[in-house]
Amino acid sequence: LSERLSGVFDKLTKQGALSEDDVKTALREVRVALLEADVSLSVARDFVKAVADKATGQNVTKSITPGQQVVKIVHDELKHVLAGDNEEPGELKIDSPPAPILMVGLQGSGKTTTTGKLAKRLKEKNNKRVLMASLDVNRPAAMEQLAILGVQVGVDTLPIVKGEKPVDIAKRAKQQATLGGYDVYMLDTAGRLQIDEVLMQEVEDVRDIVKPRETLLVVDGLTGQVAVEVAEEFDGKIGISGVVLTRMDGDGRGGAALSMRAVTGKPIKFVGLGEKMDALETFEPDRIAGRILGMGDIVALVEKAQETIEAEQAEKMMKRFQKGQFNMNDLKNQLEQMLKMGGMEGLMGMMPGMKKMAGQAKEAGMDDKMLKQQIALIQSMTKRERANPQLLQASRKKRIAKGSGMEVSDLNKLLKMQRQMGDMMKKMGKGGMLKQAMKGMF
Ligand code: GDP
Ligand code: MG
Repeated sequence: LSERLSGVFDKLTKQGALSEDDVKTALREVRVALLEADVSLSVARDFVKAVADKATGQNVTKSITPGQQVVKIVHDELKHVLAGDNEEPGELKIDSPPAPILMVGLQGSGKTTTTGKLAKRLKEKNNKRVLMASLDVNRPAAMEQLAILGVQVGVDTLPIVKGEKPVDIAKRAKQQATLGGYDVYMLDTAGRLQIDEVLMQEVEDVRDIVKPRETLLVVDGLTGQVAVEVAEEFDGKIGISGVVLTRMDGDGRGGAALSMRAVTGKPIKFVGLGEKMDALETFEPDRIAGRILGMGDIVALVEKAQETIEAEQAEKMMKRFQKGQFNMNDLKNQLEQMLKMGGMEGLMGMMPGMKKMAGQAKEAGMDDKMLKQQIALIQSMTKRERANPQLLQASRKKRIAKGSGMEVSDLNKLLKMQRQMGDMMKKMGKGGMLKQAMKGMF
């Protein structure tokens, strides 16, 4: 892997802003990755469009190809879509006991297994007393299956009564949960191989009786497009409050997660990662995003490169400062940094001995507006002038002041500041203070 990474580092490419072409090329790859991960066509299309708008014009980090940069942007957007707004994955509404949780989904999706896993989690993590009940009257073995899981995880199950209808079991579970002082009761419904009217009606009837606090749709994460159709159908008919994606331990790429989120807008709460009772985890957008793109190492690479570059820049800068070299580019960097870090005070407060200067600067009316004006002055200088501020004589000064809509006296103040800061950096560099100060800055 590291060989591959250094290969990418060697293959340095363009710098500057991402062009429309860069973005287009990279997004073609991303689109393929999404489709391969089983994201539905329309969702992939919308998603790529949203990313294109965000990516065009962004600066490319040095030592990263535009394609890699786009992947990082895509990754962040995936994470954003998957996470939704203000949602805590893994949180369930289980106040006001006994709180009913209805488990729905197709046959074989993992409902019964997930019911057991979730009951275990609620018992162990949330300290809840849980009662489970199987409403699956179609397969006698299904009820036994839940009873066995109950024993295994130490959670009570409603006693099985032969010949009872699902709605009657639901009523009995509610009654038992109330009388028995349970915090939560979970109803594991029957699935079908395909969605059908009878199944939906059955689940609707149960829903109307118990009025669930959570209706969790359990879907097989490997089924991709089908999972999305199932989610739409169940949400339309029953109304779901969240999704549990099972079989995420398989080699599926998790595209179903994105499609489902995009199509239903419902939060993915948990993922199933195996057959065992502890193989249930809170949904982590970051991880699934990496999996969908299958380009996790690129994302890490971009992050790493950004850090490395910042550290390299800081090191180089420090060496020059120690020699008393402090030109207008440096000053511009500092000013921009100050703006980013909450103005003058933010930065200077971090550097030893500069608190006083920060106070003076404040008195002199140095605020964000002034910082921006000073940056504008520097931007009006030529490249040569920035590197050699001593070149700035009267005529050049006039041109620069005019170019940035400021007075020559403003420019003189800036020059004075550049000289003072240069002197100070040099002095600090001798005492080793600069190194310390810069450590705090980067
Ligand atoms: P139900 O018909 O929806 O109740 O599905 P079950 O809970 O009976 O699960 C069907 C099969 O899938 C069982 O063999 C489970 O052990 C298995 N299963 C459920 N969840 C997962 C999971 O997250 N990963 C894996 N690998 N298998 C799972
Ligand atoms: Mg079942």
